[in-house]
Amino acid sequence: MIMKETDVMPGKSAEESLDPEDWESMRMLGHRILDDMMDYLETLRDRPAWQHAPVDVKAHFAGSPPVIPQTPEEIYQEFTQYILPYQIGNSHPRFWGWVAGTGTVMGMFAELISAATDAVSGSFSYLSNNYVEMQVLDWCKTMLGYPATASGLITSGCSASNLIGLAVARNAKAQFDLRSKGMRAAPQLMTLYCSEEAHSSIQKAVELLGFGSRALRRVPVNESMQIDLESLKEAIKTDREGGYHPICVVGVAGTTNTGAIDDLEALAEICSKEGLWLHVDGAFGAWAAIAPRSKHLVAGIERADSLAFDLHKWMYLSYPIGCVFIRDADEHRRTFSLTPTYLAHGEGERGLTGIDVPWLSDYGFELSRGFQALKAWMTIKEQGTEKYGRLIQQNIDQAHYLASLVEKSPQLEMALPVSLNVVCFRYIRSNMSDSMLDLLNKQIEVELQEKGIAVPSIVTIKGKKYLHAAITNHRSLQSDFDLLAREVVRIGDELG
Ligand SMILES: *Cc1c(COP(=O)(O)O)cnc(C)c1O
Repeated sequence: MIMKETDVMPGKSAEESLDPEDWESMRMLGHRILDDMMDYLETLRDRPAWQHAPVDVKAHFAGSPPVIPQTPEEIYQEFTQYILPYQIGNSHPRFWGWVAGTGTVMGMFAELISAATDAVSGSFSYLSNNYVEMQVLDWCKTMLGYPATASGLITSGCSASNLIGLAVARNAKAQFDLRSKGMRAAPQLMTLYCSEEAHSSIQKAVELLGFGSRALRRVPVNESMQIDLESLKEAIKTDREGGYHPICVVGVAGTTNTGAIDDLEALAEICSKEGLWLHVDGAFGAWAAIAPRSKHLVAGIERADSLAFDLHKWMYLSYPIGCVFIRDADEHRRTFSLTPTYLAHGEGERGLTGIDVPWLSDYGFELSRGFQALKAWMTIKEQGTEKYGRLIQQNIDQAHYLASLVEKSPQLEMALPVSLNVVCFRYIRSNMSDSMLDLLNKQIEVELQEKGIAVPSIVTIKGKKYLHAAITNHRSLQSDFDLLAREVVRIGDELG
């Protein structure tokens, strides 16, 4: 049957879309949301550093999919009541747990813009988005002193960056066509090396790439929690003699537990002598390279064959954004490039499929990717690289300041000297055993968090539990560390 114009409501099409029916009221809600979020960020310091979601809030998130529509105002109201107050709190000036970033206002605007344009990055070389991503990659290479000829990719975080780096390492060092033949064609089992302190994402990557976690040799650390170089050389030698095929060393620039930085120059020497790939996990520590008085700590980082790092930790950008560089761009492409006919890159200067910049999808496992680069591009422009360098240095200085407070107090004890921006310390009392102190320091951590005073986390170092403050926070002030040291002693005295 042919539909007549009179079958539908006059002036209105029968077809639907997801756009607002009332643009004006939606616009007003949008303004309100933006105002609320600006208020949220401007007043962070006035709120608790962390707030636990109570039982009734958790129970709110049960139930079936909504069949009947709700109004945007109702949905936003639900968000402000049940979600907004119970964030992990990492934007707060006194959040130092694990290693978390803090976000920027300009970055928030960038996310709004990315969503509004539903921006895709990675394919279609004529889109400005790709040039933005390439520029951010170039800026990061310059800032970190990494070779300009390297290839790179913006990722969702350092876990993805480690996976990409190790995938290229594997294919480059396999000595056979691994992409078509698979791991079963390997004549010898391949082995990789990292310290006991390396991040779990390294092991995950090794497992995902089909090496098996046993192929990842965990090398002991020295007193400073750096990979022990003699043990590393010994492990490589033993494996060669045992018929294995050593392919890669993973160095860490800034371990999650203590901020320790492996001796990267020495690792680069060992790798070049042994013909191994050097991958550096510089999740947050890589950024010491831009701190005016701390560059030397990561000397040698530019010699890595692949370098993985985050921008959502120590570059303070909102989640998610990480990055990976590969020194040999051809190896990088050889691992990931695959072009089915429907994605043919085309030629010439016109249309969506021109070829003047590479498709970034040829450098990673994802095809469609969000426009994460925009928040980096906008924030770095807004702040400038010099200020970024000063902020990284400020956090390192704050770590040393907190350590000085710990050393001055008879009730506090450092686990080990500060190597970068992580302070590991505990409350002590002479009549208590280490196991009692473990329990007490855990209680102190919980009390600090539950009362919303500050958020450190807990780490275990050489069998003992310590409070862990990883300072990747552009909002922290010196007085925040005074407060932390004071409160740890007060709570320890009360509970102990
Ligand atoms: C956080 C971290 C990672 C993982 O990074 P994500 O961005 O969380 O995926 C890897 N290595 C180290 C040293 C880290 O601190």
